[in-house]
This record gives sequence, C-alpha cells and structure tokens, in this order.
Amino acid sequence: MLNSETSPTTDCESDPAVNVQSTPIGKGVFADREFRAHDVIGWITGKIHDDPEYGSEYCIDIGGTATLEPDAPFRFLNHCCEPNSQFTWDELEEDSDAIPEVYLLALRDIEAGEQLTIDYNWAADCAIPCHCGAETCRGWIVTLDEIDQLPAKKQQAR
Ligand SMILES: [Zn+2]
Repeated sequence: MLNSETSPTTDCESDPAVNVQSTPIGKGVFADREFRAHDVIGWITGKIHDDPEYGSEYCIDIGGTATLEPDAPFRFLNHCCEPNSQFTWDELEEDSDAIPEVYLLALRDIEAGEQLTIDYNWAADCAIPCHCGAETCRGWIVTLDEIDQLPAKKQQAR
C-alpha cells in the first residue's frame, strides 16, 4: 500500500548543497555533492545596500549603485584566480527598481567535497597578495582589468 502522507517539501533555494568548513585562510564553502558546469549551486540571500559608498569584504556589486552583502554560507566563499564558480544575476532593465536575484553558478564540473571558489575581482587599490595556488595565479587578489594599475610598490613585491 502506498503511503498517503505527503512528504515534506524540500526547499532547495534556502538549503543549498554546500557546507562551511575551516581552511588555512579562514572559513570556506565546500560542495556537498557533485555539480555539473552551469548548474545553479544556490541562490544568494543577503542584504542589499543601495549606496555607492558602501563597501565590505564580502559585498558583491550587482549593478547600478546596489551591492549585495551575502548571508552565510556564501559570504564565506574564498577567492581563487582559477575559480570553479561565479556569482551571476540576470541584468534588469536600466530604469527598473527591482533587485536582481543573485545565484552561484558552477563554471565547470565540481566534485563532492571540493572547495567552491570565486574570483573576487577586486579593484587594484584593494588588492592583497593571493596564495590560491592556481597555475595562473596573478599573485594578487585583483581584477584582471586592473592588474596593471597595482601601485608600484606592490608590483616590486611580486
Ligand atoms: Zn591567486
């Protein structure tokens, strides 16, 4: 006989298949299961700051003057110069007041247990040394567009 009880609905959006663990450089986010390239790993929740002056270690520029301060677990994503995932959102009409929904997209196949990483793409004046270990590591956590604008003393330190 079939069980007539309805099974509890699983809310994938608020319960992404990731977990937060300690890493040598602080907390990191790890995959609970395999993801395929272009999978949505999870939706990012957080606080929107519509203030051009707002900045923090974790905030994401989501277009216009708005930034998103992500909640856990995704605020703990670490930087890698060869990241396996990326914050993504659908661009809205320019005059729209709506806030885009941001999600974390897998850039390639990711194995269960692998650490999820993103490219912070920081401006040159915020750059700090990078120790991500990727073959293509830039040496600095900095956006590729501004790597030539690193202050001279940072350049010499490379
Ligand atoms: Zn690096």
